[in-house]
Amino acid sequence: MAERPYIVGNWKMNGTRAMLAQARAIDRAAQNMMKVEVALAPPFTLIHAVHREVEQIGVGAQDCHPGPDGANTGDVSAAMVADAGAKFVILGHSERRRDHGESNALVAQKAVAALQAGMRLILCVGETEETRDAGKAEAFVTRQLKASLPETLESPADSLTVAYEPVWAIGTGRTPTVEEIGAMHCAIRALLVDLYGAEQAAQVRILYGGSVNAENARDLLAADEVGGALVGGASLTAENFLGIVVAAADTVDS
Ligand code: PEP
Repeated sequence: MAERPYIVGNWKMNGTRAMLAQARAIDRAAQNMMKVEVALAPPFTLIHAVHREVEQIGVGAQDCHPGPDGANTGDVSAAMVADAGAKFVILGHSERRRDHGESNALVAQKAVAALQAGMRLILCVGETEETRDAGKAEAFVTRQLKASLPETLESPADSLTVAYEPVWAIGTGRTPTVEEIGAMHCAIRALLVDLYGAEQAAQVRILYGGSVNAENARDLLAADEVGGALVGGASLTAENFLGIVVAAADTVDS
């Protein structure tokens, strides 16, 4: 486990202002668990409101457009989400790749836009069940990550987090084994060392995502090279999410 685990809640297309109470409760609890870095990625419509409500936790976006401005009805630029209070953006989530046909090249363009707007990246990668069953998961994920990263990244230690999220584990209640997660995270770490050198790569946290909950978090977070978790369903209530944050706090050496 990384020195300071990073636990990020992805609210997806959930939440109206009624959910601000959950963000407040998460923020209050996080103030007493400084060993863990806690963040929420609410939908676009709540970024500014959550940003105004919280003091301790990070606030981010779930996507951004690669362009700066213009005739792109319904899209939101990186500068816009940063202006609303986002400090990071989740990119390349499998739901965006699946539902919006996002390619690795588009994810890389969005990453460049997000960095230019001064935000950090959480870059998501993950294989389908078919790919895992074919024994090609590590080759697929490392290729996907390499192709989704911007061509140049000056300081990955400060700007990059990777989230390994097997597509078949998202929202299904199924997870890889601790050994499988460890092996994948080690393969991702090796790629980062290759790309950025050992010193920078060592500081990039690699999150696991996919059906993490308060019950399984302790085991999953203990896998090799896991620096935290990206949490979907279990981040929607403070009670469930904080169970994961407490598990992460328990894994940190005192
Ligand atoms: C996700 O989609 O990022 C995710 C991890 O979802 P869940 O925790 O619901 O599986």
